[in-house]
Amino acid sequence: RAKEGGRNLARFYLPGMNERARERLALVDAMRVALASNQFELHYQPQIDLAAGRAIGMEALIRWRHPQHGLMRPDRFITLAEETGLIVPMGAWALRSACAQAVTWQAAGFGPLRVAVNLSARQFQDPALPAMIGAVLRETGLSPRCLELEVTESLMMDDVEVAIVMMKELKAMGVRLSIDDFGTGYSSLAYLKCFPVDVLKIDQSFVRDIEHDPDNAAMVAAIISLSHDLGMRVIAEGVETPAQRDFLARRDCDEVQGYLYSRPVPAAEFECLLQAARVASPLPRA
Ligand code: C2E
Ligand code: MG
Ligand code: MG
Ligand code: MG
Repeated sequence: RAKEGGRNLARFYLPGMNERARERLALVDAMRVALASNQFELHYQPQIDLAAGRAIGMEALIRWRHPQHGLMRPDRFITLAEETGLIVPMGAWALRSACAQAVTWQAAGFGPLRVAVNLSARQFQDPALPAMIGAVLRETGLSPRCLELEVTESLMMDDVEVAIVMMKELKAMGVRLSIDDFGTGYSSLAYLKCFPVDVLKIDQSFVRDIEHDPDNAAMVAAIISLSHDLGMRVIAEGVETPAQRDFLARRDCDEVQGYLYSRPVPAAEFECLLQAARVASPLPRA
């Protein structure tokens, strides 16, 4: 299996190894160096509360500022980080930076901002995860209710019983849980009510064609109703046009996130967005 292969390959450079395997190995080595030398950074994308018309939080998205390749998005390295287990220290770094940043912005008077951090399957299966999160919250001083952890359906369906135990443990700490990319995984609706989840994030593939594709429009409307009926909030990802935003607002979607408001941007730039919104609050409807 690919996973085991990745782990073994990380240990041996063999003469007959093919090009692709060499590239992977080089990337893994480079990632280790990158972690030790601060080449990773977080970009932030605002999450807009539709009723309030302003950003009430942000999602932290990892980037790799590679000395040769420039800024790399996670699709170039996250899978390999998962396969090799490097995602565990990388994810811990991301969580710590995101929480520290949220505290900095709260202290600067930008309000009780919430920060959302993505968790990978590997992290979620790590029994030390709750202790790590607890330590980060204590050290940074972030209130647990200002931290949202994003997990995917497929991750939860790997082993439903174990996932529920982990989610309950995290909920007991007071953090929020959301299901990322909802609608693209395999989660059975029957399980949804067993998951102690606060938020569903509608995958951007459904949002994309909302104005033109009646099937997607129906799906989105159904997910919004389902979330509310189950007592959850719902956020739509990948909102790029005013028409999409208006559709979602009419259907009572709670929050939106997407290029319409901002791409994910470095912390300094995100702070400018927060400044601008403070001056002109509520946020001008993009
Ligand atoms: P995700 O968590 O579903 O994040 C949403 C992705 O959609 C982000 O891609 C974001 O830049 C992009 N996006 C946001 N708004 C729009 C829009 O309006 N249109 C379009 N076309 N795209 C939009 P990104 O930053 O490349 O991240 C990709 C994935 O990498 C994330 O998907 C997440 O699964 C993973 N990821 C990112 N950061 C981390 C991390 O710190 N840890 C882990 N485990 N995974 C991460
Ligand atoms: Mg996410
Ligand atoms: Mg997503
Ligand atoms: Mg995704």
